[in-house]
Amino acid sequence: MNKNQLFRKIPKMDVLLTQEAVQKMINEYGYDSVRKVLRQELDHLRTCMEENAAGMPEECNVSRFMAVCGEKYSGEEQMRKACTELLIETLEQKLAEVHRPHLIKVLNGTGTILHTNLGRAPIDESLLIDAVRAVSGYSNLEYDLEEGVRGSRGAAIETLLCEITGAEAAIVVNNNAAAVLLVLNALAKGKEVVVSRGELVEIGGQFRIPDVMELSGARLVEVGTTNKTRLSDYENAVNDETKAFLKVHTSNYRIVGFTETVETAELCKLREQYKKTFEGCMAEAEESVEIPVIEDLGSGALIDLDKYGLPEEPMVRESIEHGADVVCFSGDKLLGGPQAGVIVGKKHYIEKMRSNPYYRAMRIGKLTAAVMERVLLEYRSENRAVQNIPVLRMMTKKPMDVEQDARKLKRMLKRAKIAAEIELYPCESQIGGGALPLTTIPSMAVGIVPEQISVEALEQKLRRFPVPVIGRIEKGRLLLDMRTFEMEYASEFVKQLQNVI
Ligand SMILES: *Cc1c(COP(=O)(O)O)cnc(C)c1O
Repeated sequence: MNKNQLFRKIPKMDVLLTQEAVQKMINEYGYDSVRKVLRQELDHLRTCMEENAAGMPEECNVSRFMAVCGEKYSGEEQMRKACTELLIETLEQKLAEVHRPHLIKVLNGTGTILHTNLGRAPIDESLLIDAVRAVSGYSNLEYDLEEGVRGSRGAAIETLLCEITGAEAAIVVNNNAAAVLLVLNALAKGKEVVVSRGELVEIGGQFRIPDVMELSGARLVEVGTTNKTRLSDYENAVNDETKAFLKVHTSNYRIVGFTETVETAELCKLREQYKKTFEGCMAEAEESVEIPVIEDLGSGALIDLDKYGLPEEPMVRESIEHGADVVCFSGDKLLGGPQAGVIVGKKHYIEKMRSNPYYRAMRIGKLTAAVMERVLLEYRSENRAVQNIPVLRMMTKKPMDVEQDARKLKRMLKRAKIAAEIELYPCESQIGGGALPLTTIPSMAVGIVPEQISVEALEQKLRRFPVPVIGRIEKGRLLLDMRTFEMEYASEFVKQLQNVI
């Protein structure tokens, strides 16, 4: 059979579109989508044939198509029918693929707990389901059930945040980048903000303090040097235009060696000093006499990590205790909640933010509000938080318990007779997400070296599982760090693995 003869056997688009099965697909996926995918399939089939089907990989349905064409059929009619069925089958699969949501669950075998590419803070499933139930359909998002009148969107969350951090007031926006922008715009638009040169950070993904500052309309006044900034540097920068001192937590790097920074408490003392001198000379407008100390903590721990053998990360409560006027931090870093930016501090400053038009543009949605409130409720006791908030649970998981999970997965893989060499390897997990950049936590990985395919091929196959698994290759092995791997999915993973090696 020559090429042209073969081409003629490909069913025509118009004919295919009238098939009952295709009509059903049109109902479900829409005419345009079905036509588009069908066109792609037919083109693909022709291209494959052009390039000689003999060497076609299995995935290409040309080899199957050719087989069908080559078979002995009692008549042309019957053969055409077989070809059509084959095409319809492929079409169905492709359409399902195209219309599957892009955002899906993956298993994290990288050992990085706050993995920016994998959705940062993992959230407990049952908590999420509860939150989703609360806001599916209607909810009392802005309705006061007691009084039967309009209520406040964030009130419950704000009360919880005040209890947890010891602050007077709180407000929540879309993320911490938005929080910094709102704080600066509300407190220092058109005026000066003093920042140490050692704290002009860039956090991954287009967040640079000087850029955010410019966007907010506040003027950046840099003081000190990269490694040393003294209290006198801040002092010398103050003038009538000074509206705030900003401290930024150097989340994702450390300057080591000869360094000097000014602590929040010291800056607060300086603030008090200016309050007095300003009050002495010009007490007419209250706002002009204050230079608030603002702190962008980045991660903002709500519990003391020191207790769990982890290096100290600044706690929000401490900043407030040291006298900071405004503190902001992410909702999905060490807090372990949904993407959000939390601002806590003195009431009159928070109220300025609430009445700022940016707040309306940056406020959180109901789904975030529902999740955030439930996560914060877990903080009512520290034990509870550490057990129920995945980020804290993973960070504080004992090496012994990680090893136990690693052994269990290894046993499961061996029992399933996976064609690979499987061993355990000590490794180091990272916190990630800009928190504690130099810190690693001892952990245990399951290392897989496949017998029949390359380790690179295995890594790729894992990424294409229905529940994809992200690992890393080290010294020719695929490593799955068991600190971040969710064991509830272990048997599903083993089953998937059985299918590919
Ligand atoms: C992470 C971080 C931000 C940005 O927070 P997002 O919630 O990602 O917007 C801002 N400042 C610091 C210091 C950070 O560490």
